[in-house]
Amino acid sequence: MTANAKGMFVDTTLCTGCKACQVACKQWNELPIEDEAAVRGHTAFTGNSYDNTGHLSATNWRHVKFIEQFEDRSDARWLMMSDSCKHCEQAGCLEVCPTGALYRTQFGSVDIHQDVCIGCRYCVGACPFGVIDFNARTGRVNKCILCQDRMETGDGTACAKACPTSSLTFGRVDDLRAIAAARVKELHAQGKTDAYIYGWDLGNRGVITQGPNKGQAVSDMEVVGGLNVFYLLLDKPGVYGLPSAPQLPQRNFAPSAGVALISAAVLGVTGLAAFRRRRMEPAMRGASPPQTPPAGS
Ligand code: SF4
Ligand code: SF4
Ligand code: SF4
Repeated sequence: MTANAKGMFVDTTLCTGCKACQVACKQWNELPIEDEAAVRGHTAFTGNSYDNTGHLSATNWRHVKFIEQFEDRSDARWLMMSDSCKHCEQAGCLEVCPTGALYRTQFGSVDIHQDVCIGCRYCVGACPFGVIDFNARTGRVNKCILCQDRMETGDGTACAKACPTSSLTFGRVDDLRAIAAARVKELHAQGKTDAYIYGWDLGNRGVITQGPNKGQAVSDMEVVGGLNVFYLLLDKPGVYGLPSAPQLPQRNFAPSAGVALISAAVLGVTGLAAFRRRRMEPAMRGASPPQTPPAGS
């Protein structure tokens, strides 16, 4: 981890779904509204709970998810989670960028040089979380940049500043990990053994107490080398739309290169055998192999 890396701890148990974080991000970063006519005409509804944003995009760098678990109304609950770029320690987007437009900042976050981005979209396919998005208006990519400008002036992120419940906490990742560990212990002591950390393995193990996955085990997960923006969850990662085992595309290179080498070796041996058989056929039939005419004849 970058020394003194900055990030955010997202305690989903404290989120009320007020979306102040989304609004603050839009305002601070002057992000346009997608399909403004539909929004102003009150027709931009998804029909999915209170979520009318749908997903992260080039103009929505933060997105509050609403997950309803109302199958058994005697045991119902509503999970909420404010999502964004995770500023991964092993960032797939950054590793595949051919121009260096995506880069690691002095705060350990992943930022974008807009003037160096050529819009090739390699990074879009390389992010295991579906975060970074192509911006058709600019021909480049966009995502949360952890309020780089605010960090440079010593301010926290705009979204964390706006959150009224401290569901989002900005700070040094080391400090945040300590806060997260203490919070999980506090919840477990209250009987909320569902609580665990997605992003770092701080040693917590628990059991889900509510919802369709009730009774199943959960445990802290370190993913892609650690997440500088990480989460306290109460259910399996997939329930929140997070991958349970995110993969970086280049990590598949070694196995696929091995398969390619074996295939090439098999093809080579088969080709050699076919060549030898063709050479031997005239001799086996008792005829002389064709002679190359002498030069100049
Ligand atoms: S979440 Fe995706 S876009 Fe953000 S740093 Fe990780 S790989 Fe890159
Ligand atoms: S850190 Fe800044 S850019 Fe990222 S989601 Fe929060 S407000 Fe938006
Ligand atoms: S501002 Fe805080 S409480 Fe409100 S939706 Fe965002 S994370 Fe949740």
